[in-house]
Amino acid sequence: MSDAKTLTGGCQCGAVRFRVTGPVGRASICHCRMCQKAFGAFYAPLLAVTEASLEWTRGKPAHFQSSNHVRRGFCAACGTPLTYEAPDGPALAIGAFDRPAEIVPEIQFGTEGRLPYVDRLHELPARHTEEDVAASPFLSDIHSYQHPDHDTKTWPGPQGE
Ligand SMILES: [Zn+2]
Ligand SMILES: [Zn+2]
Repeated sequence: MSDAKTLTGGCQCGAVRFRVTGPVGRASICHCRMCQKAFGAFYAPLLAVTEASLEWTRGKPAHFQSSNHVRRGFCAACGTPLTYEAPDGPALAIGAFDRPAEIVPEIQFGTEGRLPYVDRLHELPARHTEEDVAASPFLSDIHSYQHPDHDTKTWPGPQGE
């Protein structure tokens, strides 16, 4: 991705929001063990941005220095992983963007740490949430308390939006 546009996102609780304006770097996934631990996930999906293009529009992330060269930003209120900040510039967690489908990974890093089943995930049995309502009735009236996938003037709002 290198087209200039505005991308927004934030953490699940809405305490931290960001905006990226201008050309962005490469989108990637990193399989390294350090990224697995930092995200609590099989790999870290990250979009490289520049310091200049990144603006924190509500709150700011807290940080954990995960190595001598890298710190990881996250929301101190809800724990959502938000950044990977290395000497060559920051990167933002793709899942934290409001429209993650538009940020397409182009390369894999840290493949020495790739979990052996990751390449076969798409072969697993697949179900929509609605298909699980019978087994888990609470799903039928679930109401999200997460921040919506767009900027808000105030949060939490009157109807939670
Ligand atoms: Zn949060
Ligand atoms: Zn990594």
